[in-house]
Amino acid sequence: MNSAFDSLSVCEGQSPRFERPTLTAVSAPVQSNGRGSTLEYAAVMSESANRTRIVLLPGDGIGPEIVAEARRLLESIDAFEFDQRLVGGISIDESGLALTDEVLDACRGADAVLLGAVGGPKWDSTDPGAPRPEQGLLGLRKGMGLYANLRPVKPLKALIDASPLRPEVIAGTDLLVVRELTGGIYFGAKERTADSARDDCVYTRAEVDRIARTGFEAARRRAGEAGKPHLTSVDKANVLETSRLWREVVSAVATADYPDVELDHMLVDNAAMQLVANPSHFDVVVTENMFGDILSDEAAMLTGSLGMLPSASLGADGPGLFEPVHGSAPDIAGQGVANPLATFLSTAMLLRDGLGRGEDAARVETAVEAALASGMRTPDLFTGAEGEQECGTAEISAAVLAAL
Ligand code: NAD
Repeated sequence: MNSAFDSLSVCEGQSPRFERPTLTAVSAPVQSNGRGSTLEYAAVMSESANRTRIVLLPGDGIGPEIVAEARRLLESIDAFEFDQRLVGGISIDESGLALTDEVLDACRGADAVLLGAVGGPKWDSTDPGAPRPEQGLLGLRKGMGLYANLRPVKPLKALIDASPLRPEVIAGTDLLVVRELTGGIYFGAKERTADSARDDCVYTRAEVDRIARTGFEAARRRAGEAGKPHLTSVDKANVLETSRLWREVVSAVATADYPDVELDHMLVDNAAMQLVANPSHFDVVVTENMFGDILSDEAAMLTGSLGMLPSASLGADGPGLFEPVHGSAPDIAGQGVANPLATFLSTAMLLRDGLGRGEDAARVETAVEAALASGMRTPDLFTGAEGEQECGTAEISAAVLAAL
């Protein structure tokens, strides 16, 4: 899971905020490229300038296998423009860095970014100065100004038995964890002496305000026109000063701008219990960085299948970063058996949350459900139950595309 990626220091030298460059159409005078008429060239260039540009970052391990399938999925939806780049271990091999400035710039200038996974034994090192694949992820988060991580948890009907919880407890679970990604204890000052250590946890009003709004907006969006939006804000306000500020700011945002959203505050220890005892109680959960790291992994496991979980990281403006929750699974890389469905569901989030194409997102989600309902299972999901057919990455991907 992502935990190991969250407590590491971020790549140096990258600005935390950015202005998103706009794609400009080609303007006259237009040069001929020698292969067609000037008019044809202008038409091609202007079409390309208007097309939605998606940066693909396959990364390491199974990343290239699952991102290639996601690309086919996107190609069957629309004529997107793709820009495929290196990140993680493969980028270290190529350039010595897990994320180059050039790749970061390409991501900042895109409409959305889809990432596979990074890391693997080849790049594990005990040398603290050696470049590490996960620096690529942290550099992207910081360099793209991604402060909100969204992880939906909704067990699919066909996989309800994969949950470690009893079916009657998991039934009806459909929640979203919104985690603050760039503040708190992971990014505070750190100090180590021979016999003590310190990690500072700092939050500003502005940081809490913006993530609270992400949570309230998500609650409204999920409730739709007719529903009653519900947000649970998780903190430790009985002990921590940062949590008391958190609670004060979230309440103020609710009163000022979201009176229609039902808001409750819950202590993190209680939230950890309620997630397994009564997960269907939750709709949107908003919380700070470290609590979110832990609770989102706990919530993720409610479905019981790591290969099924998507995520999105969003900033104030600029493109979002969409990626499966799982890692690069080096143990199965290159075997054609990786489960691509978490990446497909991340692609659905890219369409909905990144490009505002909710209908296309819903089509992808329905197609994933349909492929599973037909009994197809990659080995990580296969239980041998009646009606199941074990298959590889290509077969289940083809089934999803056929159902689209
Ligand atoms: P992992 O998620 O890669 O794998 C855990 C287990 O789940 C393995 O048995 C793997 O085969 C299986 N698995 C994961 N995704 C699967 C999929 N789509 N289909 C089928 N099976 C799947 O976690 P790990 O083994 O702890 O880490 C492996 C590498 O990935 C490490 O280098 C780690 O640092 C890195 N990692 C990367 C990310 C990321 O890029 N966001 C997140 C976590 C771990």
